[in-house]
Amino acid sequence: KSFRDLGLIDQLCEACEQLGYTKATPIQAQSIPIALQSRDIIGLAETGSGKTAAFVLPILQALMEKQQTLHSLILAPTRELAYQIGDQISALGAFIGVRKAVLVGGMDMMPQSIALGKKPHIVVATPGRLLDHLENTKGFSLRQLKFLVMDEADRLLDLDFGPILEKILRNIPKEGRRTYLFSATMSSKVESLQRASLSNPVRVSV
Ligand code: AMP
Repeated sequence: KSFRDLGLIDQLCEACEQLGYTKATPIQAQSIPIALQSRDIIGLAETGSGKTAAFVLPILQALMEKQQTLHSLILAPTRELAYQIGDQISALGAFIGVRKAVLVGGMDMMPQSIALGKKPHIVVATPGRLLDHLENTKGFSLRQLKFLVMDEADRLLDLDFGPILEKILRNIPKEGRRTYLFSATMSSKVESLQRASLSNPVRVSV
């Protein structure tokens, strides 16, 4: 299927074309129409399946419908994955002027705080560093958040981010928020995270 067939707006289809994405991967073809119907999603998919664009494209489309700072938060288990997601957001959002900030551990807090001060639409973060900013960066709050993504949720939990995720979840609205959880595997820990954070989700797997 083409991206146009999935219901994506022109600016996003054009960005996909520029990146050489001629047709949607299976996880994209399954997830995007469901996401555009405002449903929560559990996606069982591995890295390499095109899962990043599967959650980034619907978020960008929602952002186009209603521009807002601190609109979406994407949590990733590692610095490398967070930067890769950030790069895809910039590439896929090239025609819509999206602003993003990437907050990861092992780097200075200050440049990240400055990036937050520039009012990003989307924040990509590793959990520990996100919590650090929530506790220490003045004026940073997730109270208006519309989308939460937990990417590679099985690895987030293997790395013992569980208690940190709980604290983060307490800082974001439950009502009026969509949540996407992507994982390569389904474990009992992932299922309890799902129960704690998603509402009536649709399950997609490839
Ligand atoms: P991911 O599974 O999200 O890490 O994506 C794996 C790789 O596939 C990335 O390099 C993407 O840029 C690329 N990709 C994502 N969607 C498509 C598509 N529809 N067609 C071709 N390549 C894609």
